Amino acid sequence: MSTTKLFGTNGIRGLVNIELTPEMAIKIGAAIGTFFGQEKNLLLGFDARTSGPMFAKAVSSGLNAVGCNVYLAGLASTPALQFGVKNHTLDGGIIISASHNPPEYNGIKVIWCDGIETSHEQETEIENIYFNNKINYVLWNQIGKKYSLLNINEEYKNAVKKHANVQKIASKHYHVVIDAANSVGGIACPPLLRELGCKVTTINANIDGTFPGRLPEPRPESLTVLSKTVQAIGADIGVAFDGDADRSIFCDNNGTIYWGDKTFAVVIKAYLHKNPGAKIVTPVSSSTLIKDTVETNKGELIWTKVGSVTVSQTMKTEDANLGGEENGGIFYRPHQAVRDGAMTTVLLLNIMADTNKSLAQLIAEAPHYFIEKGKIPCPDNKKTALQQKIYEQLKTENISTIDGIKIWFTDGSALLIRPSGTEPVFRLYAEAKDAAKASKLIEQYSAKLTQILLTL
Ligand code: MG
Repeated sequence: MSTTKLFGTNGIRGLVNIELTPEMAIKIGAAIGTFFGQEKNLLLGFDARTSGPMFAKAVSSGLNAVGCNVYLAGLASTPALQFGVKNHTLDGGIIISASHNPPEYNGIKVIWCDGIETSHEQETEIENIYFNNKINYVLWNQIGKKYSLLNINEEYKNAVKKHANVQKIASKHYHVVIDAANSVGGIACPPLLRELGCKVTTINANIDGTFPGRLPEPRPESLTVLSKTVQAIGADIGVAFDGDADRSIFCDNNGTIYWGDKTFAVVIKAYLHKNPGAKIVTPVSSSTLIKDTVETNKGELIWTKVGSVTVSQTMKTEDANLGGEENGGIFYRPHQAVRDGAMTTVLLLNIMADTNKSLAQLIAEAPHYFIEKGKIPCPDNKKTALQQKIYEQLKTENISTIDGIKIWFTDGSALLIRPSGTEPVFRLYAEAKDAAKASKLIEQYSAKLTQILLTL
């Protein structure tokens, strides 16, 4: 890990006992506790990873050492922990999870009192405390206390249920397959759906931090068992969660798995139908399908920088109730303004029951775009100059510079050009209504960028 940064785009992440050790976790806990302040009350939980209990103990020792009280939630999904912080009016929370990363990773994510992840500015404050040894250790008689708060999964389940159209869903007798990634997605969602009258078949639902079923990133290529199970047993819908169950990817009754933009579009359409003119928040990297769906259904689209925290914060400041990312993270603020896999599942079941349509039918109603990706090498020290030059050459077009450069062309196709945050490359994402046009955009703009780069 770097000597000045702990946090990446989504909390602290690292290889267990190589990049992230229990020794560091104690100090990180103490830095986080110092940031919150003495006598503050923090909720602490972990996902299924083998290193979860180890890091939870280390972090809680650090928190106690600076006088913070720790409420131990045990195994919990990220959305359940986020809900627990708000529901118990605690000062904040910490979830030990590396989300979708493989089992050899773990991470530490900090939650603010509103249930949303801490902002990048707050993360910088924690890093400053950690690296500059500004930790406020307390005296022996001020050490924080530990309490158990083991009901948060049940409370979370009941909270999501409040947003379900219980009778309508129950009347449909849906058969749902849940692929829980051998992690915390299997705790609240299966009993919740059974309470809604669904027949539930689970796969990979035993807690096992070696993730024997599949990797915790729910990508179509790793979800073949879900797809085949849905087809084999004639289920109505399948859902797969990532390692901490904030993201959900769905498959229809034919076993077809959809990327998150497709399901988000279905949710947007139904939401705007009931809430005309409502604001929809999404990162600028989202598909043109999202833009089309919001415009066609007369909503107001609000673009943000890439990153789930930014989406949550924007929903709060803009007073928007629905947000989403194309990786399967949907934010429904009437429940909580964060990504939530179980909440998303209930939203989709509500829509299926309301419209009397299958997921396949609902998705077929939306336009289809072809996506092509490309990248060109670009040294880190030339990224800013390259972006500036591209902007100068393109500024007459319909573009946005919220994050990278996004161009919307008059024929409905779109292109996003973004410097990678981790590699010496610029990435290009093209979308068009036919595949050839998308490939052509990548080809054309890769050449253009390479040419500009030669002049820098
Ligand atoms: Mg996640």
